[in-house]
Amino acid sequence: MEISEIQVDGYEKVVRCHHESSGLHALIAVHDTTLGPALGGMRMLPYASEDEALFDVLRLSKGMTYKSAVADTGLGGGKSVILGDPKQLKSPELFEAMGSFVDSLGGQYITAEDMNIGIPDLDIVRRKTRYVTGLSRESGSSGNPSPYTASGCVFGLRAVLKEIYGEVDFNGKRILIQGVGAVGGRLAVLLKEEGAQVIICDINEARVDELCSQYGFESVPDETHLDIECDIYTPCARGAGINDDTIPKLRCKAVAGCANNQLLEFSHAKGLLERGILYAPDYVINAGGIINVSVELLPGGYDELVAMQRIGKIEDNLQKVFEISKSQGIPTNEAALELAEQRISAGRSA
Ligand code: NAD
Repeated sequence: MEISEIQVDGYEKVVRCHHESSGLHALIAVHDTTLGPALGGMRMLPYASEDEALFDVLRLSKGMTYKSAVADTGLGGGKSVILGDPKQLKSPELFEAMGSFVDSLGGQYITAEDMNIGIPDLDIVRRKTRYVTGLSRESGSSGNPSPYTASGCVFGLRAVLKEIYGEVDFNGKRILIQGVGAVGGRLAVLLKEEGAQVIICDINEARVDELCSQYGFESVPDETHLDIECDIYTPCARGAGINDDTIPKLRCKAVAGCANNQLLEFSHAKGLLERGILYAPDYVINAGGIINVSVELLPGGYDELVAMQRIGKIEDNLQKVFEISKSQGIPTNEAALELAEQRISAGRSA
């Protein structure tokens, strides 16, 4: 196994691994460990080149630093990528080699699931390193993060309601959820229990029908969902849905959902602000899953009660973001970065 370092300004460590017999070609980026070891998922994609993979791992690891800092998990940011087609290249040898590669950083980087990597793959990685999180509940790990992401979003929506209406009251509030998969489906149920009037849409019509008949939600076709007037629009499907085309069409008071990278561009938060629409930065409101995983790393190991207490802090974190945004007159995504920077520099001087 050949491990070599790549020098990148602003990153604590970036390493490349080649392992001929298993075909492993992978990169790990540790962006910042000021607040703790760098946690971040492992993804596998058929990148066109190592440069493309490097761009991805650098961007994602930096994002994890900010996400963890705002979520107050006591962790830093990192990420790993395996170059190759998951359909052709996956093998036990490959994931064992990846385990040894992760282990070579001695805990500076801790891995988890991400795109094209599942629990069976991580179980093999685990044979070679203990620096793996998000395995099954049966193995003492924290299990599927989706229900915790959904619960965290409910706490975030409490902060949103308080900001818009001055009080936390879900009763009768119209909440439109786009994407009712693992996270959005669970969220819809939780919000209905809180008294909200939930409207759902998804390109998977069978899923919409199943949820509507079980829980009595209203539904709207995905193509026309932006025509619906609502209190909060909650994207839980895919990224880039908030852009120059959609911002003028929105008929809501806030955009607050779990989908990653909701803004096509960073500047689109300014577009929302100019329309008087409150934006809950995605990585702040969707942090329930990472907070849940971070509890595995506490000295006592995973404890669901502790996890839920910590997930509840998403409400305070978002409130802080809204306060910074108002006091400095900046969009909420800039305010979230500011909060992250404040926490990292406090960690540096501690
Ligand atoms: P999922 O695949 O279980 O659900 C996504 C749902 O969105 C599916 O039902 C799919 O049919 C639907 N969908 C896809 N494209 C759509 C479109 N164009 N219009 C309408 N519906 C569409 O995924 P998930 O785990 O529920 O994650 C949802 C989002 O939340 C993703 O962006 C994910 O990155 C993000 N996220 C998830 C977690 C987690 O814990 N699972 C944590 C943080 C962020």
